Amino acid sequence: MVEDLQTDAELIKREITRSGIRFTSRIVETKEDYLNALQEFDPDIILSDFSLPTFDGMQAILLQQELANHVPFILVTGSINEETAVEVMKAGADDYVIKEHLTRLGAAIRAAIQKKEIIRLRIEADEKLRVFSRAIEQSPSSIIITDAEGKIQFVNAKFTNFMQYSLDEVKGKTPRILNPGHASKEEFEGMWETIKNRNTWHGEFNNRKKDGTKFWENVIISPLLFHSGNISNFILIMEDITEKKKMIDDLVIAKEKAEENDRLKTAFLHNISHEIRTPMNAIVGFCDLLNDPELKPDEYKHYTEIITQSSHQLLSIITDIVNLSTIEAGQERIMANNLNVNSICSYVYEQFILKVEHKGIEISYNTSLPDNEATIISDETKLTQVLTNLLSNAVKFTNLGSIEFGYLFKNDTLEFYVTDSGIGIPEEKHDEIFKRFYQIDRSENRQYGGSGLGLSISKTYIELLGGKIWLTSEAGKGTTFYFNIPYNRQ
Ligand code: ADP
Repeated sequence: MVEDLQTDAELIKREITRSGIRFTSRIVETKEDYLNALQEFDPDIILSDFSLPTFDGMQAILLQQELANHVPFILVTGSINEETAVEVMKAGADDYVIKEHLTRLGAAIRAAIQKKEIIRLRIEADEKLRVFSRAIEQSPSSIIITDAEGKIQFVNAKFTNFMQYSLDEVKGKTPRILNPGHASKEEFEGMWETIKNRNTWHGEFNNRKKDGTKFWENVIISPLLFHSGNISNFILIMEDITEKKKMIDDLVIAKEKAEENDRLKTAFLHNISHEIRTPMNAIVGFCDLLNDPELKPDEYKHYTEIITQSSHQLLSIITDIVNLSTIEAGQERIMANNLNVNSICSYVYEQFILKVEHKGIEISYNTSLPDNEATIISDETKLTQVLTNLLSNAVKFTNLGSIEFGYLFKNDTLEFYVTDSGIGIPEEKHDEIFKRFYQIDRSENRQYGGSGLGLSISKTYIELLGGKIWLTSEAGKGTTFYFNIPYNRQ
């Protein structure tokens, strides 16, 4: 109470008690005491006289506004004129009571305290609302709020950024998720059933952004209820799970691949023991025969030929396995040096002319650059090995006709080809044959032999050399394998 007259203060206190309010009070006269009391006494209401010897009601209200505007303020004065009252009210006082009509004081105090309480509650509610709005607005998940019919009323910033739709574009519309026709009928009905029954629904949807990009999202839909228990809104919280889903899909693919590899490896082990045993048996068997002192020279020649051929076969199988191990260990490196592709073609031609002789098929090759332009920087061993692998297959799978190989100069690359007129490769196997250990399941497989490694090694090498490998083929008519490598000159 800001009051200099002891008697007035007494009257005021008595009036408050009379009106049934229980209280403690502190009476101050100077500005200094007033400021102290605001801090230490921390009043629930300030009652202030207008004129005091060193202080006045206007200063008191201004200080209250500045330091404690949550505390109600009532001007209680005897000598006031209307104008002063208006000024103090304008400055923020809640009420004024004239000392001659003190009976009004109790009601005025109650009303002022109640008014301040309402204001305090409103400020608190506003603050709460601001926090919730900020939480929704800044949420890292997309959020939609719809009315009870599912028509959009609000979307947050994450939604507009991610989905590329502005609030205006979607306001009043139904989210795709709540839209019949988007999800399956059962899924859609199940979802509405759940949320109409005031339960929360979880699910995953394939959705589309404005630009058509598809993505997977995890959606939670919860109904918001009025006090009465009726649904006022639905809130949809959505999280993009495309990456997560992709990770799971990749894991499944990796698992299937691992299982397939395992299966192929087992098949390979069965196969390889046969592949190694066949030439080994031939070598052991014919070495034995060489010991026969009666052997005629042409028999001797024939047997040694078989031994040599079987040894080569064995060597090539072992080389393949060693190469595969290096590839699998990630140790395969490119040894780049100057090489002449024409020389390589002529070298492999020389090797193969001997091999096809006895099969009665023809082999030829074509080079499209003059010798002095055919020198490039690449890995000679790998290039030779790929050509050799493709030619070995061509010879193996061709019983009639011819084999042609060579290269063309095309768009700064050298495009190699190996064409045969053999049994061909069905279209659906064109990818499969590049897998490790894969061999086309033909009843006559045994007749052809092999380990199923040549093409997968070739593919890895060509990719290491910066090119790719592919084929065209017609069953029964023949096959052409192509691969390209960059035309890297010095
Ligand atoms: P391998 O020849 O040792 O079995 P590859 O990886 O070189 O292993 O070839 C895989 C499979 O692709 C072969 O088993 C064969 O079924 C098929 N194939 C490869 N080249 C040809 C070809 N030129 N003509 C027909 N089939 C082929």
